[in-house]
Amino acid sequence: MAPISRSRRKPAARKSAPRRPAVRKPKPGKGMGAGARGAGRDLLARLAKGPVVCAEGYVFELERRGYLQAGAFVPEVLFDHPEVVEQLHMDFVHAGSDVTQALTYYVHREKLRVIGREKDLVPMNRAALRIARSVARRSGTLFAGDLCNTNIFDPSDKSAVKEVEAIFAEQAGWAVEAGVDYFVAETFAWGQEALLALAAIKRCSKVPAVITIGMHREDVTREGWTPAEACVRLEAAGADVVGLNCHRGPATMMPLLRSIRAAVRCHVAALPVPYRTTPTQPSFMSLTDPCCGNERAFPVGLDPFVCTRAEIADFGREAFAAGIRYLGVCCGAGPHHIRALAESLGRHPPASRYSADMSKHAYFGTDKQIRKIQTDYRSRA
Ligand SMILES: [Zn+2]
Repeated sequence: MAPISRSRRKPAARKSAPRRPAVRKPKPGKGMGAGARGAGRDLLARLAKGPVVCAEGYVFELERRGYLQAGAFVPEVLFDHPEVVEQLHMDFVHAGSDVTQALTYYVHREKLRVIGREKDLVPMNRAALRIARSVARRSGTLFAGDLCNTNIFDPSDKSAVKEVEAIFAEQAGWAVEAGVDYFVAETFAWGQEALLALAAIKRCSKVPAVITIGMHREDVTREGWTPAEACVRLEAAGADVVGLNCHRGPATMMPLLRSIRAAVRCHVAALPVPYRTTPTQPSFMSLTDPCCGNERAFPVGLDPFVCTRAEIADFGREAFAAGIRYLGVCCGAGPHHIRALAESLGRHPPASRYSADMSKHAYFGTDKQIRKIQTDYRSRA
């Protein structure tokens, strides 16, 4: 029988959801990557129905594409090439992200001061929010605002704490003006700084807040709290979702996530970096490699450590089975990782139309049209 006839028979016999045609012009409410349909723009309603996939790590992907400088990691690309940012948002949605998160990571006063662009603070935040909102509303994905580590937090310095509060207040305000569906506040090495971000969000908005800590090499935050302890404090302060993002790969984040899941009642978030971290080098900043003279591979020598899609899919299944519903991948993630994560949760985003089918491969294919001269050569290919 010709292969095409076989493939036509297949859908009736398959248990999984039938393949949907690719959505070219998604209408509001019918998200390209929306998993929990009918829950609208309410994050908590979507989480009540099932997992929510959130692509993060934009700055690393833009760095790889040649539009952002490693080191400073400030997304000046928002001004230089806004179309690239928009396309990246769309690529992640196409791959299965349920969220379009505004690229305001490191677009705060302190970071812009470091690169001498403080005067661009307001228009750069507004550009990030405008681009993300546009993609979110076109695709039916959730529109998230973003606050992050300021790098100046010092619990012993009252004026520094005041500066941090001012940074969070102004960025949260612009996000509220833009109409975000919820907030992400992320990558905090200090639990106390995360609490300040949450307080700033609560002061100006009633939308849900997802607060995630970034754990470095030690299994405690910089003030010495365990991740579970930090998350209990965040939940008590009103966070809707708590958890971890960045720094740790799946292998070294997972044990900490289990301790958090056991300690809190609210939803838990897990967004590891897609790198093969180990017990002795548990964060991506601690990884060393011969390609870098056995020194630190972060940030541009990390390629040998990149997780495969199967490893990210394993992480997705393991985390979901552990009761974690807000799932994503942080710095280093490409759209292929997000697709693997979405598929591990039973999703079929538009990009899955092109997921691998080795039956058609020139040497390894099983399709009857692949000639014997090719399949015979398989072991030598
Ligand atoms: Zn990250």
